[in-house]
Amino acid sequence: MELPLLKDADVKGKRVLVRFDYNVPLKGEKVVDDTRLKESLPTIKYLLEGHAKVIIMSHLGRPRGKAVPEMRLDAVAEHLSELLHKDVEKVNDCVGGEIKAVAESLNEGEILMLENLRFHSEEEANDEGFAKQLAELAEIYVNDAFGVSHRANASVVAITKFLPSYAGLLLQKEVETLSKLIDKAKRPFVAVLGGAKVSDKIGVIRKLAEKADYLLIGGAMMFTFLKSEGKEVGRSLVENEKLEVANSLLNEEVILPVDAVFAETADSSETEVVSVDSMPKDKKGLDIGPKTVEIFSEKISSAKTILWNGPMGVFESEPFSKGTFELGKAITFSGATTILGGGDTIAAMERAGLKEKFTFVSTGGGAMLEFLEGKELPALAALKGKK
Ligand code: ADP
Ligand code: MG
Repeated sequence: MELPLLKDADVKGKRVLVRFDYNVPLKGEKVVDDTRLKESLPTIKYLLEGHAKVIIMSHLGRPRGKAVPEMRLDAVAEHLSELLHKDVEKVNDCVGGEIKAVAESLNEGEILMLENLRFHSEEEANDEGFAKQLAELAEIYVNDAFGVSHRANASVVAITKFLPSYAGLLLQKEVETLSKLIDKAKRPFVAVLGGAKVSDKIGVIRKLAEKADYLLIGGAMMFTFLKSEGKEVGRSLVENEKLEVANSLLNEEVILPVDAVFAETADSSETEVVSVDSMPKDKKGLDIGPKTVEIFSEKISSAKTILWNGPMGVFESEPFSKGTFELGKAITFSGATTILGGGDTIAAMERAGLKEKFTFVSTGGGAMLEFLEGKELPALAALKGKK
């Protein structure tokens, strides 16, 4: 890999500024899902064992350039402190003279957490002056925030101009796993795509149609593909402006559902399973049907590598969750190398109790899609430029 790696840095006695993606759900003063905090522990522990002084930064939510009390990182600092059994000092800003003084007073093995970076609009503007102020707090910079690496933000791009910069352990693993998937996946390689919109994922659909042996399509996006073949899809979610592109992507390796679960709305419990050749005009398709689950499961059972992004149906509502949950079972029982991505897909697998059974769960939703598509992520390009 061409990225400069944390394990090649000399961190002993140094102030190391680490960017994590701690954009976690909060409820009042509590962190509701601490997955991202837990995933950052290896890098933090590595730095502590290496006698570094650790300064952590992150964004949370969309405060749009001003301090929003509910988006402060205090609850995150407290939760991290519990996970580490160690004090985490939290300050109320991320730049300025006072913050600099606190950073300079850190001892080896101590941890400081800065305030939400997005309280300053300069963060998302990739402002160099702001990046320089952040850089003045430390001697080494580490990016461990794959989930924001597709954004040209000051804390992941501009900052690399001012400090020796490295990829953290999580970022490294994420990039290595996804690179391997694209360049040397064990075959058969089956990609499963679903979710709300074709337009969100068109780039990755195109890439996977080329790289994977089979591309299984479910979720709302299936209806755009089915309609592009001239089928009646009723009131299902369709992107009419994507019909042509969708049609151009179809080939023998792209497998579309043969049946679907239809209903009045996502709240109705009255459902009907129909063939895709007789979808009712006055109803919506909200899940893949049982025959489709069978066909998809068969492809999955013979795969050596499986990538999954996007739920097969409106899994949030019980009558339409079967397709997603059954595929989750098939994928995790396949014995293949399995990679799971996408905020909603991960949430679905968590709910099904299957998340831990995947070989790798990618933390970056949009970043993962852009990476798989073959786009150069700005933050990774910035790090590579340092090597
Ligand atoms: P991810 O976050 O995993 O990338 P997306 O955000 O693309 O996934 O899509 C997830 C959403 O798609 C879910 O909220 C789900 O309810 C919705 N969805 C899936 N299938 C359908 C469908 N047939 N009709 C409407 N919405 C659907
Ligand atoms: Mg989503």
